[in-house]
Amino acid sequence: MMAASAAIVTVGTEITTGLRLDTNTREIAAALMGAGYDTRETVSLPDDPDLVATCLRRLVAAYDLVVVTGGLGPTHDDITREAASEALGLPMSADPGIAHGLARWVHRHTEQRAREQVLRQALVLQGAEVLAATVGTAPGQVVQTPLGGRLVLLPGPPNEMRPMLQELFAHKVQGSSTVVEIACTGISESDAQVATQAALAEHPGVRLTILASPADVHVVLFDDGAGNEGILRAAESVRDALVPYWYSDDGASLASVVTRLAQALGMTLAVAESCTGGLVAASLTSVPGASSVFRGGVVAYSNEVKTSQLDVPEALIAKHGAVSGQVASAMARGVLRRLGTDVSVAITGIAGPDGGSADKPVGTVWFSVADASGEIPVMRQMIGDRDGIRTRATMFALNLLRLKIAGHE
Ligand code: AMP
Ligand code: MG
Repeated sequence: MMAASAAIVTVGTEITTGLRLDTNTREIAAALMGAGYDTRETVSLPDDPDLVATCLRRLVAAYDLVVVTGGLGPTHDDITREAASEALGLPMSADPGIAHGLARWVHRHTEQRAREQVLRQALVLQGAEVLAATVGTAPGQVVQTPLGGRLVLLPGPPNEMRPMLQELFAHKVQGSSTVVEIACTGISESDAQVATQAALAEHPGVRLTILASPADVHVVLFDDGAGNEGILRAAESVRDALVPYWYSDDGASLASVVTRLAQALGMTLAVAESCTGGLVAASLTSVPGASSVFRGGVVAYSNEVKTSQLDVPEALIAKHGAVSGQVASAMARGVLRRLGTDVSVAITGIAGPDGGSADKPVGTVWFSVADASGEIPVMRQMIGDRDGIRTRATMFALNLLRLKIAGHE
């Protein structure tokens, strides 16, 4: 069966000028996919009635469902209702129930004009089903248009839009297509693609997308004919091909995977951070329940703190430099001993933009992961600006913890 087609339209000059970020499209697209729709277009338009009318006329003729957000409020720039009415030739009339509800708020406005225009929100397209506002005042509308497609109008503010979206699509899960998102780290985008495509050779009917952000590559598998069972079997092959890089397939962050693994094995963790300045500790403590495994960390930014708090010998720093495998291992050993944990990780590197040298350029980061059996130092040349280097170093350190706890060497 072919999936029903859909389009999403966001209306608001604040979006087309970059004053605000369009987050509604993302939520609506996810809800539509969950409900089994195939979204073919997403469009953003300014508060211009002619543009909105022209666009809606085209979209409702082309797709089974068109979801619009924004422009349903009371002010002069809220033009979506009128544009839809004009585009579809559906006259509007005031819904007495909504008008009655709105009348209760009229006294909050001082200006007579303001009092009048609030009531514009009671105008409903002929034949439309009204979605009551549970937050805010603007109701939504659903109408079967004479041009073919069904039109849904939702308010722009995300907290007002969300409950209506839920009400519309939450129960329509039958026929929904499975999407599997396999999160990986420590592998390049292109390597992940090639490995995944090789694994997918045996699994027709699966579409692949790769979503990459610093040190985090997500392999996304969409159903393209394989069906639910087929996509789950394909995901199994892909995960096998991506060992030891993949860390979750259920949306869990790397930090929460580390926490989960340590919890399962009853292990405790500590961190010693220089160039990441606490980012690894912050990631771990962002996970609810982290206290059962994460004991704490030391941000040892200066050499003096590395020595006084982590027992890194001054002579070691003088000989090898603060950014070295020897110092990283001494930091990891020091924090392991001082905090009395089963596993620790240390990070010391050059995040830039200054501080690089010929043999230790900006982006040189030494890590060491330690347990009772000893330390394993490892160097990575991170790319990116200061933020990028620190983000990548954080992911790398978390991944070292993951591999250590899981017993990958
Ligand atoms: P409106 O429905 O046009 O009155 O929208 C009011 C407010 O909702 C805007 O000022 C934005 O802050 C927010 N908003 C509107 N559209 C979106 C969108 N697509 N994504 C996120 N926020 C939005
Ligand atoms: Mg608006």
